[in-house]
Amino acid sequence: MTFGIDDLPVRDELRGKSPYGAPQLDVPVRLNTNENPYPLPEALVERIAERVREAARDLNRYPDRDAVELRTGLAAYLTHTSGHPLDVSNVWAANGSNEVIQQLLQAFGGPGRTAIGFEPSYSMHGLIARGTGTGWISGPRHDDFTIDVPAAEKAIAEHRPDVVFITTPNNPTGNAVPAETVLALHDAAQTAKPTMVVVDEAYIEFSHGASLLPLLDGRPHLVVSRTMSKAFGAAGLRLGYLAAHPAVVDAVQLVRLPYHLSAVTQATALAALEHTDTLLKYVEQLKAERDRLVAELRAIGYEVTESDANFVQFGRFADSHETWRQILDRGVLVRDNGVPGWLRVTAGTPQENDAFLDAVREVKKEQN
Ligand code: PMP
Repeated sequence: MTFGIDDLPVRDELRGKSPYGAPQLDVPVRLNTNENPYPLPEALVERIAERVREAARDLNRYPDRDAVELRTGLAAYLTHTSGHPLDVSNVWAANGSNEVIQQLLQAFGGPGRTAIGFEPSYSMHGLIARGTGTGWISGPRHDDFTIDVPAAEKAIAEHRPDVVFITTPNNPTGNAVPAETVLALHDAAQTAKPTMVVVDEAYIEFSHGASLLPLLDGRPHLVVSRTMSKAFGAAGLRLGYLAAHPAVVDAVQLVRLPYHLSAVTQATALAALEHTDTLLKYVEQLKAERDRLVAELRAIGYEVTESDANFVQFGRFADSHETWRQILDRGVLVRDNGVPGWLRVTAGTPQENDAFLDAVREVKKEQN
């Protein structure tokens, strides 16, 4: 017997749990982690090199702890794209929106407190809750993956969570959550006690609809989280951010590690923001490809969940893991999120999507 995790005095709530583990397999077509398939444009790569070179001259010093220039740039981006005015005091940034979520749970969750999400949804909400000692409550959805509002309100009334997560567009299902649903759950959550409501908009740039940022007006318990991993095509950068009332920004500063955002990260993200318009053009191409995937999958005879994201959930399969394997055997990696009967494919380049569609056409024939 080799010495393993179970032989270490790990916290009880971590025993028997698996780490986040999307397979990173070396196959020709990888459409499994909702990345943007387009490499950054060369002009942006050059600008990153310039900005990082400048930053390197000061690497003997700690970075700007409050990332003021970057947060100002992110606030300008949000204001420009949503029409809802925000400034540096409303925005906080961290290493990926995963870290933003962790800081929110460190500040508003923790031992003796609970958070709720409506599942299937982004599995890291529950995992980060566990990692911060926050109890996790799995809330309900309808069979078509929309949020069952009366059931969700009932779950909130019963469990009185301290944090409510709403992911829109939702991952892995792809559907967006209507503003009325978010408002209903926000209001339900405030009846028993003040409760933070985190709207995870990681994929909002790909949506047919608008961001919920305007709902922040007059709602100090609402938080919108965002990322540069998807629309900005910069998953490798690790830059996530939130928009909220300035008091929320003050609260997360109580738990952030000092100098958590490196000078290199800040410089790179600032360079990416300078190229927003070009990057958003790729988003338009990906939206068209996403819509093509939905239409072609339906034409092949699959069921598809409405998608407002850069990925599509399709089914139904008697054995989704076996189907995942059959698609992989054809050189295409999609994602089995453990939603029984369904798989998820990320919109790639037109060539990658064609390879995927050829693979699932063959699989469909085999299964018929
Ligand atoms: N939220 C959702 C809904 C996601 O799907 C992801 C990434 N898959 C994240 C947050 C985290 O993204 P990142 O840490 O790269 O910003």
